[in-house]
Amino acid sequence: MNLVLLGPPGGGKGTQAKRLLEKFGLVQLSTGDMLRAAVASGSPIGKKAKAVMDAGQLVSDDIVIAIIDERLDQPDTKNGVIFDGFPRTVAQAEALDAMLVRKGRKLDHAIEVRVPDQLLIERITGRFSCAKCGAGYHDKFQKPKVAGVCDSCGSKEFIRRADDNAETVTKRLDAYHAQTAPLLPYYEKKGILNVVDGTQEIGQVTRALEAILSA
Ligand code: AMP
Repeated sequence: MNLVLLGPPGGGKGTQAKRLLEKFGLVQLSTGDMLRAAVASGSPIGKKAKAVMDAGQLVSDDIVIAIIDERLDQPDTKNGVIFDGFPRTVAQAEALDAMLVRKGRKLDHAIEVRVPDQLLIERITGRFSCAKCGAGYHDKFQKPKVAGVCDSCGSKEFIRRADDNAETVTKRLDAYHAQTAPLLPYYEKKGILNVVDGTQEIGQVTRALEAILSA
């Protein structure tokens, strides 16, 4: 099973993808995570992407399409993939369709996790994650059980994304509405679009997603 999680930055795609992996035997492919790893490693792609990401704009289609194409050739993706943050433009969606056909696979679901803009800025600017295991937290909505200690691995080191600041968030939301929202009618026309209410509590959103994937 292959699915695309759509929705605005801070809408909960990454959090939900992590919760679905095990139950459905899938791997999460987050182009944002891959690009951040490229930036951290100082690779040529990372060097190209950094300024664009810091400005809250989209990295070029060619770069992300090539990253995904290569990643899909690794055997752990064969059982199925959750695309998180990809595709982000109609050109990327068309390229994904073509590459899945080429690789003898198909997209089963596109699910929009819908959250209105006014909730997103607080969600994004308050989030942070464990530097060691990547578990996600929020200053207000999801604090570690013991302040300063990761619930999952006990690490005391946390990180915040460079682009999770109020100014860049507005630019990322603009990019979402202008370039990514057109994917909703794109997948609706293909008859594979579902919508879940992303303003619900995290567990309720997961249950709504599980119901769609189990149907
Ligand atoms: P994310 O972690 O999905 O919020 O992505 C963080 C940043 O990485 C975005 O604001 C873009 O600059 C870049 N990015 C991630 N995925 C894509 C994509 N599919 N297409 C273009 N840029 C992307």
